[in-house]
Amino acid sequence: MVDPFHAAFLVFTLAIGGLRGFYQWRNRANQPVRHDATLLDRALLVFAIIAMMPVPLLQIFTPVFAFFDVAIAHWLSVAGVILLVAAVWMFWRSHADLGANWSAQLAIQAAHVLVERGVYRRIRHPMYASLLLAGIGQFLVLHNWIGGGSIFVTGVLFYFIRIPKEEALLIGQFGASYRDYMRRTGRVLPRILNVATIDPA
Ligand code: SAH
Repeated sequence: MVDPFHAAFLVFTLAIGGLRGFYQWRNRANQPVRHDATLLDRALLVFAIIAMMPVPLLQIFTPVFAFFDVAIAHWLSVAGVILLVAAVWMFWRSHADLGANWSAQLAIQAAHVLVERGVYRRIRHPMYASLLLAGIGQFLVLHNWIGGGSIFVTGVLFYFIRIPKEEALLIGQFGASYRDYMRRTGRVLPRILNVATIDPA
């Protein structure tokens, strides 16, 4: 019998894969005018795909990572399912709110506009925040350091490697407007204190 938590994770991967496929198809006519297609960024995207599907699937369907199993209380796994649902919602909203400005690669489109509404109102990187959220959920439902930790590692890599490049690209395109947006928002968590006097430049 399939473990219900494993089943929940499989539904999560289908939802994420379906959303990603849909928005890739919807934005297929995009015309990037600038992009950051470095080897490192491509490697990060490949890492993300491997972390999302093959790694957890190997753990669910084979014993290869059994050595890394960890005991997790049932109620925490239930909380993990709730986190996965929240992550899918945030992943969906971030694609929907970016609209035609979304692309898998770091890019500026011909008609790029700065989005500051919806899930972008308080945080600048809701899509990467959804990966961190999903990473915690994945660990709680899969009970394994490797099979359950791969998405969180991806989120951390995106946070430290991709965000600085992405923000540099957006500052290059939108200048003072993006710096102003940075003052009002947090990267993956909303700003709690009023720190409007701190200049992120
Ligand atoms: N980092 C964002 C978006 C990831 S998709 C998030 O985590 O939600 C990556 C693309 O989104 C990049 O090509 C970048 O140019 C674009 N982008 C990121 N933030 C944006 C914003 N506020 N407005 C418009 N485009 C944005």
